[in-house]
Amino acid sequence: MSEKKRSSLSHALTTLQRRMSGGSNRLSGSNAKKLKENEKPIISNPSNFEHTVHVGFDPHTGEFTGMPESWAKLLSQSNISKMEQKKNPQAVLDVLNYYDATNKEQQEPKMKYMTNIKPPSADSMRPTLSDKFSNNVVISPKVEQATHASEEEEEEAPPPIATRPDKTKSIYTKPIEAEEKANGAIATNKNDKPKKRKMTDEEILEKLRTIVTIGDPNRKYTKMEKIGQGASGTVFIAIEVATGREVAIKTMNLSQQPKKELIINEILVMRENQNPNIVNYLDSYLVGEELWVVMEYLAGGSLTDVVTETCMDEGQIAAVCRECLQALEFLHENQVIHRDIKSDNILLGMDGSVKLTDFGFCAQLSAEQSKRSTMVGTPYWMAPEVVTRKQYGPRVDIWSLGVMAIEMIEGEPPYLNENPLRALYLIATNGKPEIKEKHKLSPVFQDLLDKCLEVDVEKRASASELLKHPFLRLAKPLANLQPLILAAKEAQKGH
Ligand code: ATP
Repeated sequence: MSEKKRSSLSHALTTLQRRMSGGSNRLSGSNAKKLKENEKPIISNPSNFEHTVHVGFDPHTGEFTGMPESWAKLLSQSNISKMEQKKNPQAVLDVLNYYDATNKEQQEPKMKYMTNIKPPSADSMRPTLSDKFSNNVVISPKVEQATHASEEEEEEAPPPIATRPDKTKSIYTKPIEAEEKANGAIATNKNDKPKKRKMTDEEILEKLRTIVTIGDPNRKYTKMEKIGQGASGTVFIAIEVATGREVAIKTMNLSQQPKKELIINEILVMRENQNPNIVNYLDSYLVGEELWVVMEYLAGGSLTDVVTETCMDEGQIAAVCRECLQALEFLHENQVIHRDIKSDNILLGMDGSVKLTDFGFCAQLSAEQSKRSTMVGTPYWMAPEVVTRKQYGPRVDIWSLGVMAIEMIEGEPPYLNENPLRALYLIATNGKPEIKEKHKLSPVFQDLLDKCLEVDVEKRASASELLKHPFLRLAKPLANLQPLILAAKEAQKGH
């Protein structure tokens, strides 16, 4: 079965199962009541809909029952011990569901984009074990998907355990087309907006033509030199002829982008959210089959280079935290969640300026949709509520900032040497990660970390609150980052 078909089957299953679940234990009493009170659901025409897989956990034997082969394989390779499985079988299912979906998504070229989904109710979206673990309860459309997948993927190699560059890559799984409203009621009302039709390539080009600047960028920018390669395109440094200033240009071949329509959203969000702590969008062009996005150029490299190659002191860490929090306060005030905060997405200027980049994953919230549920980000930096598939809001960025602060202390995020699946399990189970030699940090820094890495979202601080945190008073002037940038560059020359 093709990936596309699998996904539509999964969607059909999601739809049908949720619509049919009025009497099942996946809907709370009140939700079930709402379903009855609602109009009859209109059921689309699912195909290949045969059976639902139930996964259970027997606390006596410590074994899962009814687990699809692909999941069992992933679990056996995950290093999640039997003890850990017994301790938190629900977390094991959550991360398996997550990891299985992300693995499938990685088979397509990675594409970053802003999305537009309706939030599901948290409980209906996750495979759940019954309160009494021995009574096998779990139902997940993904399980069905995984079962089909396993038939085809039996001979495939196990998931790679990558080195830092690979496993620190961002992932974006298919948004689940939830048909429930935030309150958990099933959306069967005629007034509910129908699912957006996928734009055709011609419509996408038409829309892009209304956004981009008309003309030939080769006349406006000269001396293009390649500086980087991302999944969606190549980044060049260039000189703007009129001003002589350096700019970065990302060129993306549109025919190679799997989710072209969503690039539009990315450009629009970037264009509308200009701030001194954001790598700002300057212009865009259509050049044949390519989309060129012109942005500010930052010559200092990424914060990852600094955290991996140098030792930062608290004054320098506080300065970076403050700059990032300023960017986050601005984005969150504009109802944008970045969703992929990590050192790789912080670029530095040679003067020590600190700017957030990579808006491909950001989500624009609205009055109708103030929460998200798509599994987005990079596992090691993900907040527990993302890993456990709950609805989430802007505070996921604050958790990731806390993880990034750990990178600035220790050089890498927690659990980086773990198999990604086990890392997800540990995030879901352990909550606040342990910081080695935490006692060596100043009490104010420890407190800031605690406020970022708070599992309870309600208690987790906001960007605005953290900007008033006493730790930020330790911040050194940004010029103090310059020696670190130079040292990182020097160290990299040696590699
Ligand atoms: P993608 O966003 O396509 O998934 P990515 O995040 O890995 O990929 P890109 O954003 O395409 O990478 O960037 C590729 C490289 O170019 C990175 O190493 C990055 O440091 C560098 N780069 C990107 N934007 C700029 C910029 N504005 N100034 C300087 N360097 C940049």
